[in-house]
Amino acid sequence: MINNYKTKNGYIKRNAPLMLKVSQPFVGKGFASHWNQVSRETFPIGRLTNNTLLLALPSIDFARLLPHLQMVSFNSGEDIYQPDGTSEFLYFPETAVFSQLNILADGRTVETAMIGYEGIAGLSTILSFQPKTFWTQTLIAGIALRINAKNFKPEFGRGGFLQAVLLDYINLYVAHISQRAICNIHHRIEERFCSWLLMLDDRNRKSRLILTQEQIAYFLGVHRPTLTLIAQDLRNNGIIDYIRGRIFILNRQKLEQSACECYSLTKKNLAYLSYNQTD
Ligand SMILES: [Zn+2]
Repeated sequence: MINNYKTKNGYIKRNAPLMLKVSQPFVGKGFASHWNQVSRETFPIGRLTNNTLLLALPSIDFARLLPHLQMVSFNSGEDIYQPDGTSEFLYFPETAVFSQLNILADGRTVETAMIGYEGIAGLSTILSFQPKTFWTQTLIAGIALRINAKNFKPEFGRGGFLQAVLLDYINLYVAHISQRAICNIHHRIEERFCSWLLMLDDRNRKSRLILTQEQIAYFLGVHRPTLTLIAQDLRNNGIIDYIRGRIFILNRQKLEQSACECYSLTKKNLAYLSYNQTD
């Protein structure tokens, strides 16, 4: 956990108030133009974003990114990055949840990571190589803030909090992918499904999950009939309910008890990113 960071102007305290001072209204085509509140002398960054990584930034770092951030919305199933494709944008999810899929030559896919408001998608766009086996799709429709890599790369290169926060995230992201790989091999699909639902629920901003069983089977890399039997069993035990592409978690405690260890391990790791955002 980062507490303080040394800059050429001295130490920035990690839990300093997240207030952004502006001398004049932000205007322009970027994300900032959506917000009238910016004409105030100061305003809390928390009113502009829910993304954990952006909220972790000191005001001065966030202010440099702000003119370049654009709000974009995605429908469920929409591609963020395609295999063999290239992209010039990075995305900070706000309400959208993305699925990082890996694809085999025969077209089979399986989700290897989930990215919600706690993270960022597309860090490879600022590196020298974008893996050709990655396929990022929208799992839950919603909003994200995007920034062009050409604007983001110099900020990342400055070092400081932005770089430190993202390196923290990359470390946890690798741990998340590793855990999912072990999970996909060693844990029963019944447990995997429960862990997956919990991870998704943590990143979902609504009271229900809008997903069909077909979509879930696709992301988990299992056959639809198998998933239907598991979902029926959970419904019979009063743990979840579902109707017309909507899933409701009725008993979260029992769902956690039915999940494999991967959910709690991943959640503990992510708690590391829960920077103090309000002091
Ligand atoms: Zn597992």
